[in-house]
Amino acid sequence: MSLGLKRNTSAYANWQDDPLTGEITQAIVFLPGGNSNAVFPVQALDSARGKISEGLTNQTVQKRGRETAPPIPSAIFRKVVQSLGLVEMTDELRLRINQDVVRWVVAHEVGHTLGLRHQFAGALGSTIEATELQDVIKTYAETGEVDSKKLPDSSVMDYTTVDYLSGAAIRLGQDALPYDIAAVRWGYFNEDWRSTDFGLFCSDEDADTSTLVDCKRFQGPGPQIEARIGNWKTELQYFYLTLAREFQDFRSPSFGGEGKPPEEVPVSVTSVVEYYSNLLQSSVSMLTPDPDFVETYRSFKFVTDYNADEYLAKVLEYQDTHLRNAGGWAALFDSVIRVTQTGGSKAMPLTKDLQVNFESYISSENYKKGKTMYGREYEFTDDDINYLVEFSQKFFPMFEEQLFSSFKAKLLGTFFADIDPQTLTTKKTQLSADN
Ligand SMILES: [Zn+2]
Repeated sequence: MSLGLKRNTSAYANWQDDPLTGEITQAIVFLPGGNSNAVFPVQALDSARGKISEGLTNQTVQKRGRETAPPIPSAIFRKVVQSLGLVEMTDELRLRINQDVVRWVVAHEVGHTLGLRHQFAGALGSTIEATELQDVIKTYAETGEVDSKKLPDSSVMDYTTVDYLSGAAIRLGQDALPYDIAAVRWGYFNEDWRSTDFGLFCSDEDADTSTLVDCKRFQGPGPQIEARIGNWKTELQYFYLTLAREFQDFRSPSFGGEGKPPEEVPVSVTSVVEYYSNLLQSSVSMLTPDPDFVETYRSFKFVTDYNADEYLAKVLEYQDTHLRNAGGWAALFDSVIRVTQTGGSKAMPLTKDLQVNFESYISSENYKKGKTMYGREYEFTDDDINYLVEFSQKFFPMFEEQLFSSFKAKLLGTFFADIDPQTLTTKKTQLSADN
């Protein structure tokens, strides 16, 4: 294994095999670092800690050698931050996540040297239910523990939003993941993998070229219909935190130079609305009759087995099952409906909720001064906080107005021309699954 401090690139592995037998004769794993991209706790822990948190904010992806690992920097860390939800970052947690990500990367690269390919269907074999994910992450954040029965993935050869959980399992000395065990046993000991149930497989060519919607990089654990519906609800609920943290990032002096006061932070209602509408659209589009899923696709082993009607029936059955597991259409549209929920209902409209949460969050003493999620120090003045309160009072009413019209346009216009706008139920019988 080679550790470097100068080069800015992803981790990668090279290996040499015997052309006659395919035997791997030697292999080396590279974990390069660099001033802006260091990921490995080399030498002194203190300096590594600084480099790690700095490195996480710089995006440098460079393909080298025969294979590259995903970059550990901000691409992954942003996903990590999103997945953390309400969890507040501490120095201890930041270091733990970084070290667990490194554990996962090393295992991933060693996997390549053993001959394993990327396994982007690995997350479909997770044993964490979509509804449990936030609790699993919370336990990890509070204690560093992960339950050995709650697998974030069936392989370290995947890229997901929670790879640090796979790293944690390594730190805790838990078993290798089931796909990896089966693949190595098949490759090295000729054991029949069909006798073990390690789930489905898809790799780079599927992620790059096919229409399989659940074979993409950096997805959450579990079946993607459930994961995306869960993610859509969580991300919208935590939007006030995302926004509040954005102002912290800009206020920290190393973020884009001097550190910007809140009034200089570019926040566009339109682009935020676009982001959340697209998130909703991506959940809903998985429930239209078009998408292909790994499970249904792989159930036809040979071209000659393929039957279009049977295939469509399998897709619909798959959608139906996972939509039900995710709470049905009601769960998907809950946030849409809550945007405008007023009058007789006791519940506040979602955007009002977000505004109240935002204002209470930015008014707390903890918010005024501290470290960003990435570990940089910042401090707001009283004027900054006053500005943020005024900003909130203007921002959220506009957000509500634009959000609802955008949702309506995306849902009714693009996907469900046949939907009943009064009840938000679809007339398509095959997609009528509900609680
Ligand atoms: Zn890789």
